[in-house]
Amino acid sequence: MIKMKNIKDYNLEELKKEMQEIGEKPFRAEQIFKWLYQEKVKSFDEMTNLSLELRKKLEEKYNICNFKIIKKQESKDGTIKYLFDVLDGNAIETVLMSYHHGYSICISSQIGCKMGCKFCASTGINFARNLTSGEIVEQLLAVEQDTGVRISNIVFMGIGEPLDNYENVVNSIRIINNPKGLNIGARHISISTSGLVPKIYKLSEENIPCTLSISLHATNNKKRSEMMPVNNTYPIEELIQACKDYIAKTNRRISFEYALAKDNNDNLEDAKELVKLLKGMLCHVNLIPINKIEKGKFDKSSNENIMKFRDYLNDHGIVATIRRELGSDIDAACGQLRRKNLKE
Ligand code: SAH
Repeated sequence: MIKMKNIKDYNLEELKKEMQEIGEKPFRAEQIFKWLYQEKVKSFDEMTNLSLELRKKLEEKYNICNFKIIKKQESKDGTIKYLFDVLDGNAIETVLMSYHHGYSICISSQIGCKMGCKFCASTGINFARNLTSGEIVEQLLAVEQDTGVRISNIVFMGIGEPLDNYENVVNSIRIINNPKGLNIGARHISISTSGLVPKIYKLSEENIPCTLSISLHATNNKKRSEMMPVNNTYPIEELIQACKDYIAKTNRRISFEYALAKDNNDNLEDAKELVKLLKGMLCHVNLIPINKIEKGKFDKSSNENIMKFRDYLNDHGIVATIRRELGSDIDAACGQLRRKNLKE
């Protein structure tokens, strides 16, 4: 059987072209967009302002990818972790977090991850494939349909390296951004990367004013390469240069993520080096208490060290905050998400 195209993979312009190709007027694309992303329907049948004939045609040509919930876990703090069946035998995790300013969703960009960061649970398992743009968007739709909440912020911090699935991630943002689509502004979207330098340059040219988060985690190449093999390909100097270029081109503040591991990267010498590295940049540092993973060699820093580290940065002109840990009791906190097979 020919695998049908997922209607959610198209941005609005592409869907207009697609409609023309099947002999329909381009405005049909706007109607379909509205049904999918504003009314959040799950079938062509529900698109009642389209003729029965057109609905049948759409049914024959496209599928509406509706993820199935395999498992749903709720944390004491209100965080919800979903394990979704992506309909081809694979599964991914998505997390909904509730903050006083609204709901945030942490989405996956790939099924597995190739980056090999030593402290992260998404690594060390087989990489299956990239998610399509429609599958990236579907995580949001499925969670909104299940909970009835309206999501206001999106972070690409689930499973995978978003810049390693560049085209689909950028296209999913175009669907999410579109006022006729999900209508969530780029300023409410963060892309987190382990530091794929050429893609950072590329992203700065896209005219998508999202927040770029850089997983830095160490201030010299020796330490960073030990934690993140990607540093062997794109060392710190090249990464920082790409960040400076990104800031100059977009005028957007970069967020540096720094996961503190006991006796590894959490002493005042590290904080001093970090100040030197980031001095004068339009940036913010997000300190993450590292979550120890199974067989992982990195332990969480003490609260005292974390606070000292933050205070040192703040006292020396670098704005730093400690990330609130959400969902740790259901393995939904930073770095705990894993690709899970349906068989598990
Ligand atoms: N691949 C992307 C996005 C996924 S990870 C990236 O590397 O940025 C999202 C964030 O969680 C990254 O900053 C990542 O380094 C961090 N992280 C991964 N494992 C962690 C752990 N065990 N404890 C704390 N943070 C972790």
